[in-house]
Amino acid sequence: MIGQNQGMVLRASDDRLVVVSTEGCDAHDVPNRHPEAPGRLISAAAGVRASVPAERMREVSPQRASVDELAEAHDREYLTMLIADAEAGGSQLDADTYTARGSFETARRAAGAVLAAVHEVDSGKAQRAFALVRPPGHHALADRAMGFCLVNNVAVAAATLRNRGERVVIIDWDVHHGNGTQDIFYNDPDVMYISTHQAPHYPGTGAVHEVGGEHARGSNINIPLRAGSAGDMMLAAFDDVILPAITDFAPSRVLLSAGFDAHRDDPLADLQLTSADYVDLTHRVLSVCPNGELVAVLEGGYHFQALARSAGAVAAVLAGVDPSIDEGEEVTSGDVDTAVIDAANKERT
Ligand code: ZN
Repeated sequence: MIGQNQGMVLRASDDRLVVVSTEGCDAHDVPNRHPEAPGRLISAAAGVRASVPAERMREVSPQRASVDELAEAHDREYLTMLIADAEAGGSQLDADTYTARGSFETARRAAGAVLAAVHEVDSGKAQRAFALVRPPGHHALADRAMGFCLVNNVAVAAATLRNRGERVVIIDWDVHHGNGTQDIFYNDPDVMYISTHQAPHYPGTGAVHEVGGEHARGSNINIPLRAGSAGDMMLAAFDDVILPAITDFAPSRVLLSAGFDAHRDDPLADLQLTSADYVDLTHRVLSVCPNGELVAVLEGGYHFQALARSAGAVAAVLAGVDPSIDEGEEVTSGDVDTAVIDAANKERT
């Protein structure tokens, strides 16, 4: 099953970065001062367009995902509830997850944007794509909204690829553990989920010993990071655990849950990354992507300027142009917690 499409299609005649943004179809209103606000997406898209020359990117319009497509990762009863909730004008679905009349439509566009990004790469039309979407997805469970997330965008894409016989790795560097993505694929030997996240922190899951269910041991990797961790800790996690694990798993597709709330300016967490750190991490990710192909999906990131800079820097790397790093955004270093690296590797073997 490994890489069944590799070598059979002429790849990436167009090496521009594909960007699929849902900015113009964003009717997911949230209460005043809610951090997961429409301005996030406007900032991220502006950052990408400022960092990547127009001739190095190609924008693709998002389609809305069908209910059948969403059902690849979600229970139909849950989707029916979301439709009814929107028709009723929205509600509060958990402690910090609110919906409005346009929320389900926005969520469908977000998932559809990720599917469009996957299609661009899967069909050989592009090598790399970046889906700029909200609401984020990685906390959404198969049957429940959670942590600002309604539909698990990356999970819908991963499940779709897996059903086509692909072997998928999802790398999630959002500062929060993607409990929803982990849960959806916990027993799936063909989808590896890898998360770096601050711990202890919301949502409380993501311990090193959560390594996958009975039929998928080793296909789930968590690297919990202490508050204050900086870029060198992330690089150590990638170099010493994540990249070797991906090489061993031998995926045919790699998806990146690209949250930017591990940036040091982010108001919701306490890691210390900068846009230059995200540049280094992006190069690490690309080093293990089959044919250099990658689909990145926006997750969190709640400081508008940090989000714009970081998403822009990552997009520049994906587009093959030199990212310009603003003053004060140089790579960071701090304490490297070798104990968690050793623990993660011990769980893996
Ligand atoms: Zn997050």
